[in-house]
Amino acid sequence: MAKTYNISIIKGDGIGPEIVDEAIKVLNAVGQKFDITFDYKEYLMGGIAYDKTGDPLPQETIDGVKNSDACLFGAIGGPKWDNLPREKRPESGLLRFRKNMGVFANLRPAIVYDELADASSLKPEVIKGVDIMVVRELIGGIYFGQPAGKDEQKGWNTMVYSVEEIERIAHVAFKLAMKRDKRVCSIDKANVLDVSQLWRETVEQVAKEYPEVELSHMYVDNAAMQLIANPKQFDVMLTGNIFGDILSDEASMLSGSIGLLPSASTGLDTAVYEPIHGSAPDIAGMGIANPIATISSASMMLRYSLDEIEAANAIDNAIKKAMKDGYRTGDLAAYDCKVKVNCSKMGDIIASNI
Ligand code: NAD
Repeated sequence: MAKTYNISIIKGDGIGPEIVDEAIKVLNAVGQKFDITFDYKEYLMGGIAYDKTGDPLPQETIDGVKNSDACLFGAIGGPKWDNLPREKRPESGLLRFRKNMGVFANLRPAIVYDELADASSLKPEVIKGVDIMVVRELIGGIYFGQPAGKDEQKGWNTMVYSVEEIERIAHVAFKLAMKRDKRVCSIDKANVLDVSQLWRETVEQVAKEYPEVELSHMYVDNAAMQLIANPKQFDVMLTGNIFGDILSDEASMLSGSIGLLPSASTGLDTAVYEPIHGSAPDIAGMGIANPIATISSASMMLRYSLDEIEAANAIDNAIKKAMKDGYRTGDLAAYDCKVKVNCSKMGDIIASNI
């Protein structure tokens, strides 16, 4: 029997509408192949929401996304709205959105497509075959801990994690590892920080529930080095907020292009899937954006929210084939390009590969 999923769609600003349209094109292709129906409902956020409603995050968007099975999101922001008061700016809409959704886990894969190994600043032999998932705690740690403040003489922040916060993010990492290579490397600074010692002890307790998963620990400074020296050693990297912020950006650069990488922000009831890049106002409306990060985000949505593994694999393989056949958008045209294509054509090719 055909399955139906309610998908909330937020296209946003800049290249957002162009790239999300291509992801929908590809979702429809897998839908046809695997007898899945996607019921899309579109909501406003960002500059476009401000222009139409006076609020960068209308309540209707929060309610609509909460009531959907998952959300596919493009990007928001642009120079047109940069001078608005802070609370009206697209970016504050996005922060409010994440808070409202209670998304505590940020999943950022770093995948290297073989054909694009030259696009990385590292040697191809170091990065070919890299497939890492960084699981970052998103709404705790030093970015939110109290007390925090500054006076004229000093500034202070507090890195604090409760056992409960560590447990819930650790479960996300171990569950993901079960669907991957069954290895979790937990990153901390337990040689110096008390909060990291609690992190390490708690992760070890959670690990007992996943006997098939191999757990290792690494200090964050060493992890930063190892990501560059030998990134293939990692499967799932589990981190707190600040360490994950830094390491996930470092990991994303292994792949060489910002236009390729997807992400997910998940809570207990909701998950939002989006490319890691922004709204690219410099190329908006030109039809030349790379839609792969967004198409890949749609694949993550199928895999992690809807448990449609075959359909997710079909998208991943369709992207790989497009890369292998030498189709490239402008951002990657310098790397093994046989046919330079625009955003819409890349969507067509990936959809037809399904
Ligand atoms: P950006 O990621 O939008 O762009 C950085 C550079 O990468 C630009 O040269 C852009 O053309 C290029 N680029 C990005 N995505 C691309 C793609 N898919 N294909 C080809 N090239 C691509 O970052 P920025 O310029 O710092 O920010 C622009 C706006 O986006 C700002 O308003 C910022 O606040 C917003 N932003 C939004 C999000 C989000 O919605 N999650 C994230 C980051 C930035």
